[in-house]
Amino acid sequence: MNEDVFRFSDNLGPTRIIHVYEPVLDLKGILVVDNVAAGPSIGGLRMAPDVSLEECVRLARAMTLKNAAAELPHGGGKSILFGDPAMDSSRKEQLIRGFCAALGNEEDYIFGPDMGTNEQCMAWVKDEIGRSVGLPREIGGIPLDEIGATGWGVAHAAEVAAGYCDLELDNARVVIQGFGAVGSHAARFLADKGTQLVGASDSRGSVYDADGLDVEELAELKREGASILDYPGGQKSVPEAVIGMECDIWVPAARPDILNRNNIADLKTRVVVQGANIPATIAAEKYMKEHGIVSVPDFIANAGGVICAAMEYQGSTESAVFSNIENKVRRNTQLVLDAAFSRNMVPRQAAVELAEERVIRAMSYRRWNVF
Ligand code: NAD
Repeated sequence: MNEDVFRFSDNLGPTRIIHVYEPVLDLKGILVVDNVAAGPSIGGLRMAPDVSLEECVRLARAMTLKNAAAELPHGGGKSILFGDPAMDSSRKEQLIRGFCAALGNEEDYIFGPDMGTNEQCMAWVKDEIGRSVGLPREIGGIPLDEIGATGWGVAHAAEVAAGYCDLELDNARVVIQGFGAVGSHAARFLADKGTQLVGASDSRGSVYDADGLDVEELAELKREGASILDYPGGQKSVPEAVIGMECDIWVPAARPDILNRNNIADLKTRVVVQGANIPATIAAEKYMKEHGIVSVPDFIANAGGVICAAMEYQGSTESAVFSNIENKVRRNTQLVLDAAFSRNMVPRQAAVELAEERVIRAMSYRRWNVF
């Protein structure tokens, strides 16, 4: 046996790795089903020219932990399709239909949207094999980005975290790195709790105003396809300037590893709520703990999207989604921060322990245990 084939295996998974290659369509893709102890896996289909098997394995594990932490009846998985997501729509449809049809029998995986795919793509998957979430409203979907499912959870995580450093939300200053779907809704829901947005950024630049920015005006600009830099007023700068903006709550909501050993000392905040996936390196997480910055890890704070997707799959309603996200995210934020403070750990470590424990408990109920 070539041991190298199992180089990604550990005590949780992955249970299956499937390569899909269809020479006639020039279709190349990979499915990683990480762990299905809690139920069929849910995870996004990522389309990009430069994705890799390793990335897919890491993302599938992240979904196992996120779904377990949220106590969803789902394991974690992820799929990738090689190609430029901006390709001609009919070619994209052909690839996505071909890919999911090839995986039609893999009932342990439910497709969701991710980078390079959207609700229209999920409608094609639903039509082809009947197994996807993140669907358009017309066919029973709950549009999670439109309603701000993830931002809603982020705002609640921030409120709970504030209690761990005696921070009042009333007039607390907020900075959002990446004013997209997650970032803009988080800013909106936090503003409803009395906070003031003082800084924001997108891929083109950043804006700061100590007297406050207009959340709705910024969101409208972004919806129209304009940039943060088109906001009338405020101090404009490069995107990276957002890291040094003085505030009380700092929300990363864009790319991975944005906080790292080279810039973490520039951060001037009391709370970080990780809206983006893996926005902080291990060194940055350690620095935050050592310097008293309360940080809520990504898969605890940003679980709103997948909670919404899982509820859509079960035929739930939009109004039920909000209260469920609120309850689960608040409870988990508290559990993780309590454990981190009482055991003097980095919150991410506490979150991983909490989620892994739930996965292992779910695994103990499966039939493999009786052999
Ligand atoms: P989005 O594309 O709607 O928004 C991303 C924003 O980040 C855009 O405004 C973009 O201009 C900006 N951006 C990109 N590079 C930047 C940079 N270097 N500096 C500053 N801003 C930059 O994406 P989204 O759906 O809001 O997702 C944001 C992050 O949250 C991603 O990491 C995603 O994986 C994660 N996430 C999203 C959801 C969800 O429900 N959408 C759920 C969980 C996690």
